Amino acid sequence: MAKIGFIGLGNMGGPMVANLIAAGHTVSAFDISVDAVARAEASGASAASNGAAAAEGVEVVITMLPAGVHVRSVYIEDDGVLDVLESGALVIDCSTIDVTTARDVIVEAEKRGLEMIDAPVSGGIGGAQAGTLTFMCGGTESAFQRAEPILETMGKNVFHAGDAGAGQAVKVCNNLMLAIQMISVSEGFALGEKLGLDTQALFDIASTATSQCWAMTSYCPVPGPVPTSPANNNYQAGFTVAMMLKDLKLAQEAAATVDANTPLGTQATEMYDAYAAAGNEDLDFSAIIRQITGR
Ligand code: NAD
Repeated sequence: MAKIGFIGLGNMGGPMVANLIAAGHTVSAFDISVDAVARAEASGASAASNGAAAAEGVEVVITMLPAGVHVRSVYIEDDGVLDVLESGALVIDCSTIDVTTARDVIVEAEKRGLEMIDAPVSGGIGGAQAGTLTFMCGGTESAFQRAEPILETMGKNVFHAGDAGAGQAVKVCNNLMLAIQMISVSEGFALGEKLGLDTQALFDIASTATSQCWAMTSYCPVPGPVPTSPANNNYQAGFTVAMMLKDLKLAQEAAATVDANTPLGTQATEMYDAYAAAGNEDLDFSAIIRQITGR
């Protein structure tokens, strides 16, 4: 069992720490929120006074932070975690951040003789609590193999997507496709309603025809056909509009760095931006259908 430093104990990091402890690891935990640290202590972690202290003497450090700016600050700038880690330590960043920062921080880690992977997740808070997250990892084969058994204590699927940054790249490509698919399903059902179609009839046919996709069959944005979808619960999240907007912006940023053409991604970003700005950022992202129907 490993000595692990864990930094970023929010909605995702908190339950991930609890699962590491349940699996027998020792966790030294830090967050700038004292309440988050107290919750981690209640689940069996020891409290560290800052990021560097959480990383002292550990074999593995894991971060689960809001954005690239925080990851850079913790590893290289304010906390200088990469400088306090003992040589040979393994570094795992599970935050969803921009591909450029992910690659830069891994280069900095390798300069110091440390192996590091980017390992963003899907599965949300429920997956973090249940230990059923999907991890998509970027980095060397050696770093991935060392990280895999640790990630398996917090998730059920652990994929090696490629070199440094590939985990973040998969994550933004996936969520770009998902956002566009959710808008396409919403437009189809909104048009169907205006044409006088019965929602269930449209679902029964389309879900076995060529427009079939996860956004329709598992997460249908209209109430009724998929009883577990947030549409049946007044669009309570789930995966929020704010989170989808964050990931769409990361996808747009990544597209700009490699001159990739993402016209529907641009439009999806504008739609989610407008919907979030109208005060809907905490709703589930499938509520975008309301932006389309105007209701
Ligand atoms: P959160 O805001 O609940 O948690 C982030 C934590 O980081 C907070 O507790 C905050 O105080 C802490 N933090 C910020 N700066 C810090 C610093 N310098 N040092 C130490 N702690 C610091 O966010 P979350 O929902 O737990 O998400 C974390 C990451 O996971 C994000 O990148 C998010 O995009 C990604 N993610 C979230 C979900 C989800 O459903 N919540 C799903 C997939 C991926």
